[in-house]
Amino acid sequence: MPSAPNDIAIQPALTPMMAQYLALKAQANDCLLFYRMGDFFELFFDDAKAAAATLDIALTSRGEHGGVPIPMCGVPVHSAEGYLARLIKAGHRVAIAEQTETPAQAKARGGKTLVARDIVRYVTAGTLTEETLLDSRRDNMLVALAQVGGEGEVGLAAADISTGRFETMTCRPADLPAELARLRPSETVVAEGATLDIADAHMFDRAAFSSSRAETALKRLFGVATLDGFGQFSRAELAAMGGLIGYLDHAGKGTLPFLAPPLRQTSGGHVAIDAATRESLEIVATMNGARAGSLLGAVDRTVTGAGARLLAQDLSAPLMDMGLIDARLGLVQLFYDDAGLRDQLRGALRALPDIGRALGRVAVGRGSPRDLGQLRDGLGEARLLRERLGRLPDQPLLLARLLPALDGHGALVDNLARALVPAPPTETASGGYIADGYDPALDELRRMAGDGRRAIAALEAKYRAQTGISALKIRHNGVLGYHVEVPARAADTLMQPDSGFTHRQTLAGVVRFNSVDLHEEAGRVAQAGGHALVAEAAHLEDLIAAVLDRKADIARAAQALARLDVAAALAERAAEGGWQRPHFVVADGAGPCLDIVGGRHPVVEDALRREGQPFVANDCRLVQDDRLWLVTGPNMGGKSTFLRQNALIVILAQAGTYVPAQAATLSLVDRLFSRVGASDNLARGRSTFMVEMVETAAILSQATADSFVILDEVGRGTSTYDGLALAWAVVEAVHEVNRCRCLFATHYHELTRLAESLSSLSLHHVRAREWKGDLVLLHELADGPADRSYGLAVARLAGLPAAVLKRAKDVLARLEAGKARTGGIAAGLDDLPLFAAVAAQPEPLVDPLRAALDGIDADALSPREALDHIYRLKQLAATSEQD
Ligand code: ATP
Repeated sequence: MPSAPNDIAIQPALTPMMAQYLALKAQANDCLLFYRMGDFFELFFDDAKAAAATLDIALTSRGEHGGVPIPMCGVPVHSAEGYLARLIKAGHRVAIAEQTETPAQAKARGGKTLVARDIVRYVTAGTLTEETLLDSRRDNMLVALAQVGGEGEVGLAAADISTGRFETMTCRPADLPAELARLRPSETVVAEGATLDIADAHMFDRAAFSSSRAETALKRLFGVATLDGFGQFSRAELAAMGGLIGYLDHAGKGTLPFLAPPLRQTSGGHVAIDAATRESLEIVATMNGARAGSLLGAVDRTVTGAGARLLAQDLSAPLMDMGLIDARLGLVQLFYDDAGLRDQLRGALRALPDIGRALGRVAVGRGSPRDLGQLRDGLGEARLLRERLGRLPDQPLLLARLLPALDGHGALVDNLARALVPAPPTETASGGYIADGYDPALDELRRMAGDGRRAIAALEAKYRAQTGISALKIRHNGVLGYHVEVPARAADTLMQPDSGFTHRQTLAGVVRFNSVDLHEEAGRVAQAGGHALVAEAAHLEDLIAAVLDRKADIARAAQALARLDVAAALAERAAEGGWQRPHFVVADGAGPCLDIVGGRHPVVEDALRREGQPFVANDCRLVQDDRLWLVTGPNMGGKSTFLRQNALIVILAQAGTYVPAQAATLSLVDRLFSRVGASDNLARGRSTFMVEMVETAAILSQATADSFVILDEVGRGTSTYDGLALAWAVVEAVHEVNRCRCLFATHYHELTRLAESLSSLSLHHVRAREWKGDLVLLHELADGPADRSYGLAVARLAGLPAAVLKRAKDVLARLEAGKARTGGIAAGLDDLPLFAAVAAQPEPLVDPLRAALDGIDADALSPREALDHIYRLKQLAATSEQD
């Protein structure tokens, strides 16, 4: 981490500026310090080196420290946001130290003339609100975690301060990775000294994570006397919210952002999907972190940033409540059935500004006139939408619930409409954002300034006539203000003592003058202009206050607009791809089911379509007495695709979206697991096989009868025998103990024997055919086991050299001959007792000597073989005695 050199303390004479810098740097701690100097933010010492390297800007030096030049780099204030974005992305945190007085004020203070500076804000990944620093289509979550009493349940508080989304929950430490994977925080904060092991978590003041302090802070924040109205929070939740608010308070130096009342998530409120499953199913991002290629990427047709963010939330947290799911589906259906209405709505939403984020900026004090303009336009459009949608005869439940949130902002919208110019600027420095006619006094000031400017224009004409210099101009700049400018060759006339002009400046080609009249008019313009700016600023403040008065309602309107966008987008996607509304059934006597007719994988289907290839739809019908499907078939045959498409369809259905299938009927899935054998997880520091087993263990311990599990080539990561044995035992356990709906893809053909002993397991395979020596993969699921593995044929498709293929064929022939002799690698498994029976009984004691004796067929022995056996038995007896 960049820091000031540690020999600073022993340096005797620091310049006042360096002393000030180092004091601020000490406060900024491990943040890079942006130290404001005029129009630049400067960085020094190690901060400068780190920033220069990340930003690829010049590293210079300024002055000396202990005889060594001080490294320095700087970024212009006006373009600081872009640089900040890059630093934050690179994992830095930045403290902004601004000048808190003008040089004149510093002088007036007397003594040293060093301008006072202070840290006004910390910029960190989780506390951003700037449009340019945020991804408009992704939530930016800050998460705080707390454990009360050091151990036990974890309180989690999460907020996106750019929109005010705020939620909290309690979870078991074991479930924390899943919740974090759902939220994908940009920044995580834990109390100093906390024992929670979270990668990259930022340690923050322990005292903030106190549940009692948190309660007071929350009551103050929401202006309530009791928190009961928001739900019953656990102490861990309160502590986490306390930490979150404390951290925000610190980052904003006392300015708290807008937070909606905390939504308390209950465990079991959404489908439990652990981190490994999220990663393997690539729900909102691919394994490489990209949105394109993920489920979200293939589904998303939203036209607003807020809609895109909400859809990501929906897919990350599929629901467990049939009523809520149906409510969402009902809204999608409205727009699915009525394409005209859908187009109209999407057209209107497309033009809509992101009012949630505009509100977020206004709330933290960084709101610009442009943000207010966005609120005016967004809320105004919301009102129109409410009118239009309110006229629909049969309103689905969710629509009826959303519509009121779109209304009620009329007075604010009207006020903003009257107050602001049509396209207000981001910058306030030069004014001009308050509309004419809003404030007569402001109009008057503007008129005066305008008159002054006209008078100045008139002076220019007058001076030209008077001096005869047609190139004479009246100009304005920051240093001289208004002045007369003539070409150097014509300057003599004005230089005369009685010319009425006073010389100010001589440049290469021009000479500049002042005059009494000009000075007077300029003063009038400046005064009126200055007053006008002040008047505009006062109006801006009032408008901001009016907006903040209604912040909770505005956030609700933003949320309702996002929900409409999501529903219309899903309807659009469904219409585009022939998707259907899923149906839910209660898993009563008949048991859980998952019945998908003509299901497709949305991402693979998209990819194939781009290549002009068709996707082969497949059915999946898991019911109580046929709940485990063992899928075999050649490599590249489509096993993984089939497994995943069904898991994705479950996610989509429970997220309340239409699904890529002809029909889908299912009972609610409480937990979803996806494991892919020996996937490349080296990054996690465990061997691939170890990861596979850890993850499989998690499934076996957590999957319930209501869960849905896909297991893809479990056991692949180790030797054939071990792998087969493990896969065998896992299938048995899933079938007998977990009793969940499960699809199990495998290359271990031997596993198909399980169909004989496991009554609710059935065999399926992806079809392939060899035609004129070539392999044709049909990607079509059929009943029964695959007839052979086609591994060599696939290798040939992949272009393995002919010589290697030939050699492999020979080896295979020998292996198969050996297998025929011994009865195959799974010979003998037929007699194996079932998993449940094994699990229920204590391990039987095996007597190796007796086992060996049992294995001898005395009648079939030659005398020589009999002697060999006696030697072997004596040796066995000796080793078992040693044991
Ligand atoms: P392996 O055993 O080698 O892991 P697999 O049987 O799991 O292979 P997949 O990875 O599912 O095979 O599919 C391989 C390719 O086949 C996919 O990338 C896709 O291009 C194509 N494919 C899979 N399923 C289908 C389908 N239903 N319709 C059309 N093409 C498909």
